[in-house]
Amino acid sequence: MKYADFYQQSVNDPQTFWGNEAKAIDWQQPYSQVLDYSKPPFTKWFVGGKTNLCHNAVDRWAAKQGDKPALIAISTETNSEKVYSFAELQTEVMRMAAIMQALGVGRGDRVLIYMPMIAEAAFAMLACARIGAIHSVVFGGFASNSLATRIDDAKPTLIVSADAGSRGGKSVPYKPLLDEAINLAQHKPAHVLMVNRGLVDMPMVPTRDVDYASMREQHMQANVPVTWLESNEPSYILYTSGTTGKPKGVQRDVGGYAVALAASMKYIYCGNPGETYFSTSDIGWVVGHSYIVYGPLIAGMATIMYEGLPIRPDAGIWWSIVEKYKVTRMFSAPTAVRVLKKQPPEFMKKYDLSSLKALYLAGEPLDEPTSQWIASELGVPIIDNYWQTETGWPILSIAKGVEDKPTRLGSPGVPMFGYKVKVLNESTGAECEPNEKGVVVIDGPLPPGCMQTVYGDDERFVKTYWANFKEPAYSTFDWGIRDADGYYFILGRTDDVINVAGHRLGTREIEESISSHPNVSEVAVVGVEDKLKGQVAVAFAILKNPEPASTPEGRKALEAEVMAVVDKQLGAVARPARVHFVSLLPKTRSGKLLRRSIQALCEGRDPGDLTTIEDPASLQQIKSVLGA
Ligand code: AMP
Repeated sequence: MKYADFYQQSVNDPQTFWGNEAKAIDWQQPYSQVLDYSKPPFTKWFVGGKTNLCHNAVDRWAAKQGDKPALIAISTETNSEKVYSFAELQTEVMRMAAIMQALGVGRGDRVLIYMPMIAEAAFAMLACARIGAIHSVVFGGFASNSLATRIDDAKPTLIVSADAGSRGGKSVPYKPLLDEAINLAQHKPAHVLMVNRGLVDMPMVPTRDVDYASMREQHMQANVPVTWLESNEPSYILYTSGTTGKPKGVQRDVGGYAVALAASMKYIYCGNPGETYFSTSDIGWVVGHSYIVYGPLIAGMATIMYEGLPIRPDAGIWWSIVEKYKVTRMFSAPTAVRVLKKQPPEFMKKYDLSSLKALYLAGEPLDEPTSQWIASELGVPIIDNYWQTETGWPILSIAKGVEDKPTRLGSPGVPMFGYKVKVLNESTGAECEPNEKGVVVIDGPLPPGCMQTVYGDDERFVKTYWANFKEPAYSTFDWGIRDADGYYFILGRTDDVINVAGHRLGTREIEESISSHPNVSEVAVVGVEDKLKGQVAVAFAILKNPEPASTPEGRKALEAEVMAVVDKQLGAVARPARVHFVSLLPKTRSGKLLRRSIQALCEGRDPGDLTTIEDPASLQQIKSVLGA
C-alpha cells in the first residue's frame, strides 16, 4: 500500500482508521465511540471501552507464549543478566502489585518510581498499570529538588526506589537524594518501597520505608487480577520541561496509548512476536515508557533493559547483546552513536549482527555524518524519528511497515498516521510555503497515545500548547520546514528548552537552581551547540559580590561551586558545561532576557535583531568572557 493513501485515510476518517487499529489489542468491554472531540482540544479515544495496559503487555502473551522471553535485564554495572519469560514477568508483576495493594495503593492513586534500570522498575510500572494506579517515573539522574517538585505535583501514595544506581562502575546512591526530596516536599508519601541491590548502605525510616525483598517473600503466591479501566482513565504522568521552571506532568490515557503503541510497533518498528527489541534509553524518559516497557511487550516481543554505558567494558557491548539475543530492532539516540563513532571500529565487526533489521534514532536532530557513518557500519536502514514526551510515539518518521519509502538525509521523515502536521509562520500564523521556516504544529484532534492534558491543570494544557496562534493548533515548540515532497526538517526549539545528549531540560529550571547560590543575583542559561552532546548548557551569572570572581582561581572555584549546586538540586544531567561571570545580561527594555542573542554569540553567530535591547554593553561583556 502507498503510505500516502494510508496516511490520508488516517486523517480523513480517523474513526474507521483507528477503529481498525484498535483490533490489535484486547478489550474487556468494547468501546461505544472511537473518537469524542466534542470539547476540543481535549480528545477522548475509544470511549466506554475497557482495557488494561498490563493485560495487553503481559497477560495475553503469558497465555499464548508464556515461556518466550519477555524482559531481558542486563547490567554491565553489576555484571548481571536475567531473562524473564512472559509467565515469569506476569508472576513478578503480580507480586509487585500485591505489595502495592498491601501498602494502600488503589485505582487512581499515584506511585512515583525513582529507580535505576533494573527489572524491578519495569515490574513496578506494569504493576501500577495492572491495578489502575498512575505511575510517575522520575529519571534516576535527577536530584532532590527536581524530585521534590514532582512529589508535590503528583502527590504519590507510594514511592518505589532503590539503594543506588551505578554508572561506570561507581555506585550512585539514590536513597539520600530521595530522603532529602521528601524532606523538601510538602506532600509526604505514606510509604517508600526500597529495592536493596546491596550497592550502598540504605538507612530505613521506620514505619515509612519498606523492604521490597521481604515484602516479596510474603506475596510469592500473589494472584492479583487485572483492573479493567475505561480507555480514558489516566495510565501515567511523565514530567517534562517547558518554558517555566515548573515541570509539566504529561498525562496519558490507557486505551488510546495501547492502540497507538500497537500500531507504531506494526507500521514503524515492524516488530513481531518472539523477536527481540533493544532500546538503549532509560525508563525515566518517554522512549523508555513507550519503547522499552510498553510497546515491545504489547507487540509480544522480548525487550532489553540495559544498565550501563555503551563503551564499557568496551565499545562492543551493545553489539554483543544484539548478537546474543538476536535483536531485530534497535532504538538509540544520535549522541550514543557519536560516542561510538569515536571508538575503534573493530568492535562492531567482531559480532554477528545479521539479525538486526533497522536502527531507529530519536531525541535530537540526527546529523548527516553520524547517520551515514552508522548506516555504513551496520549496513541496515537508519530510521530517524521525531517526537516528544507529549506525543508518546513518533510524529515524523518513515513507516517502513506500510511502504518502503526512502528516507532523506537530515529529515526525520513525513507525518505519521493520525498527525495533521503543519508549519506556521511564527507571527502571522499563516501556513508556510515549502522550504519556508516556521513553527511545527499539529491540528487537533491529536491521535491516540498523545497527552490528554497537563496533570491537574487543564487550563495549562490549553494555554501552553493550543493558544499560540489565532487558530487553535498544538504547538511542538520546534522550528521546522517542509520540503516540496512533504519531508520535514526540524531546526531546534522555539522556547527555552534545550536538548543535552537527547535529554530535554528547561533553562529556567537550571537558572532557578543557580540563583539559589548565595552569591548569585541573576543568571541566564542557554543551550550551546556541542559536537558530541548536540547541546550543552552554558550559564552567565551576575554576582551580588563580584570580588571572589576577580581572579582566574576565584572564578574557577566559584564556577565549581555553582555546578555543585546544580548537581545537588537537579542532578549532574543538568549541570552547565561552563559558568561565566558578568555584571550585565542582555535584556529587552521590558526586561525579557535575550537568550537567543546570548546563544548566538556563544555559537559565533550574529546576535540578531537588537532594536529592543536595554544595554548593548551587556553583549560586549558576553563576547569578552567567551573570548577569555
Ligand atoms: P522529549 O520530550 O524529551 O522527547 O524531547 C522532545 C524534543 O526533542 C522535540 O521537541 C525536539 O526538539 C527534539 N527531538 C526529538 N526527536 C528529534 C529528532 N528526531 N530530530 C530533531 N529533534 C528531535
